[in-house]
Amino acid sequence: MIDRERIERVFSPRGFNVCFFGEPEEASLYLADYLKGRKCAFGGSVTLEELGLYDRLTERPIWHWRDNPEEARREAQSAEVYLLSANALSLEGQIINIDGTGNRISTALFGPKEAIYVIGRNKVEETFEKALWRARNIAAVKNAIRLNRKTPCVKSGKCMDCNSPERICRGFSVITHPMMGVKTTLVFVDEDLGY
Ligand code: SF4
Repeated sequence: MIDRERIERVFSPRGFNVCFFGEPEEASLYLADYLKGRKCAFGGSVTLEELGLYDRLTERPIWHWRDNPEEARREAQSAEVYLLSANALSLEGQIINIDGTGNRISTALFGPKEAIYVIGRNKVEETFEKALWRARNIAAVKNAIRLNRKTPCVKSGKCMDCNSPERICRGFSVITHPMMGVKTTLVFVDEDLGY
């Protein structure tokens, strides 16, 4: 179970808005209402897919998982609100993401005036070290499997820090505070979501 008090104690003083939902459906309904009439874009995210938020928004967000990928990745940079998840979050105060093309980590940091991270309880770790391990050995490996990459982790089930041409882990972002000028909200869901 998510420790709401502890999360608030760590992330609120850093300037993050923090909110909690018990179930994905509640978070999805809240976000659909909050985002009504706004130009949104999504980063690649199994969490967002599982929330079913794309189909719930009357104004369809820009999403390279639904639209022309190259155009959508660029167009997302001019969205008003950018939604994504985290590969891991540490209770020491870091949010970690790993990217292959860099669109997700770069757009979350600069471009849209607002970033919303939707984070299931499975992404929350005690320490930065554990969160980094999770991002590399759970999130990245599952993503490599989902994308059917020819990388060693797909066979071994753990990160081999490969130099494969198909390596999906090409850049890491570690956020400790909202970027200047970017309102940043962490939406926690007390269920496992994405990976
Ligand atoms: S660095 Fe290579 S082996 Fe490690 S998770 Fe990424 S793609 Fe897989």
